[in-house]
Amino acid sequence: MMSDLSCSVLVIGAGIAGWTAALRAIEHGVDVLVVDKSPGEFGGGNTLMTSGSLRAAGKNLKSAPQALYREVMKEGVAYPELARAWADHCPASVDRLRGWGVELADGPAGGLLLEPRTSISLSPVYKRDVGANILRKLKASFTKRGGRYAGNTEALRLLIREGCVSGVVAQSNRKSLDIQSKATVLTTGGFSANKVMVVKYIGRHAHECKLRGSPNDTGDGLRMAMEIGAKAVNLSYFYGHLLSLKALSDDRFWPYPRLDSLVNEGILVDRLGNRFVDEGRGDVAVANELAKSDDVKGACLIFDEEAWQGARSDAPFPYPKTPSANPWLMENDGCLYKRKTAKELARAIDVDGANLLRTLDSFNKASERRSFEGVLVPRKGKTRPLRSPLYGLKVVPGITFTMGGVLINGKAEVLSQEEQPIKGLYAAGDAIGGLMGGYHGGYTGGLCQAIVTGIIAGENTASFATGSVRAG
Ligand SMILES: Cc1cc2nc3c(=O)[nH]c(=O)nc-3n(C[C@H](O)[C@H](O)[C@H](O)COP(=O)(O)OP(=O)(O)OC[C@H]3O[C@@H](n4cnc5c(N)ncnc54)[C@H](O)[C@@H]3O)c2cc1C
Repeated sequence: MMSDLSCSVLVIGAGIAGWTAALRAIEHGVDVLVVDKSPGEFGGGNTLMTSGSLRAAGKNLKSAPQALYREVMKEGVAYPELARAWADHCPASVDRLRGWGVELADGPAGGLLLEPRTSISLSPVYKRDVGANILRKLKASFTKRGGRYAGNTEALRLLIREGCVSGVVAQSNRKSLDIQSKATVLTTGGFSANKVMVVKYIGRHAHECKLRGSPNDTGDGLRMAMEIGAKAVNLSYFYGHLLSLKALSDDRFWPYPRLDSLVNEGILVDRLGNRFVDEGRGDVAVANELAKSDDVKGACLIFDEEAWQGARSDAPFPYPKTPSANPWLMENDGCLYKRKTAKELARAIDVDGANLLRTLDSFNKASERRSFEGVLVPRKGKTRPLRSPLYGLKVVPGITFTMGGVLINGKAEVLSQEEQPIKGLYAAGDAIGGLMGGYHGGYTGGLCQAIVTGIIAGENTASFATGSVRAG
């Protein structure tokens, strides 16, 4: 078959998963082509927006693989073979990144920081220092080894020959082209920017969530893989945070400030003034539950002066500085209401006053007796009574990236509905499912998932393309 371009390994999507896959493959001596639909120098995905905090399920990547495996399996939604391969590859991936020129430093609480000397600027979006510096280094390392890159090239559908994925049909500058490959890696990111998919897989009204990530992550890899019979898992979960409903307009991308500490200390009520979610499950789980509700834009976070003052500083140095809720919300028209009594606050935020009083009374009494037994909506973790004056803030979930995607095995091979490898097709990064998600949020670390599954995909595509290892 005639083709416009050909290569041994084709990598679709030039985020951190794409580059780690490409680098690991090219290190094995195969010819690699990376394509990205964005015209930008460094693709256009979530990696460009990252803060660069690198953790493996909350732990250091060099932790014992067994401990990492156990942590990921806790939520009950991860696939054991994938989780095992991921855990086994975590420690060495740190050294590989360093070898490719990416700077890493120790961060607080055992975490690592990528490109720690770069910073995030605060407007109008933010300067793309951290992600751009990571990608610049990975791309330079790849190009030095003779790899090829084509921007402005959008993969549209997978090609199949003799039962094996053999490349893609793509378009570049409105021209259609066939790219032939022996092995193809989908590193197209998740589907957070695809409103139709978000509604289909996350919640009936989830299109009302704010987008906290790249507009280019439109689920293309997931769609292409599903069209040829791939299995997709954990699609209903996303990584994200509650954001202010009002601060800045919807069309102006602003992923901050995160409201984690206010969620931990306060309560979330619906338009009737009732609690409806266990806030102690954490900000990610709460954002997921609200996104699945029928009233995505109707929730209000209630907290007190102690919580508000505590929200003055965000993550300490050396984490990249991002805006804290206090005073950012005040300065950016966050529609934050402070009132002396619950009744006055209920009027300001337009919720049922009697219900709000009852909710606060029940929460405060349960906090005092340190037991939520008998309270309709349970609450995990330590709580304390909320004292006047009270604050109310309308919130909405912000979707950073989707946690579900195509199911891969421990070799990063995409699996069919029958969980058999689809020959010649691999996936990594936010495009995959099978590691993250669950009742408590189940966050394994977006960067860690992307880097490690990228490395696994790169190693196995190279073997497959050179015929030294058969898929399966
Ligand atoms: C604001 C923000 C902060 C974050 N901070 C952190 C953090 O501190 N720590 C952490 O662990 N994670 C963080 N993350 C998450 C992390 O950045 C992502 O999980 C990770 O970068 C995903 O990498 P990826 O390569 O899988 O996808 P992406 O970086 O999204 O790359 C996907 C690429 O595929 C391209 N593409 C899509 N469709 C096609 C197509 N059809 N054809 C060709 N190309 C296509 C896109 O243009 C894009 O360049 C953050 C994310 C955001 C948005």
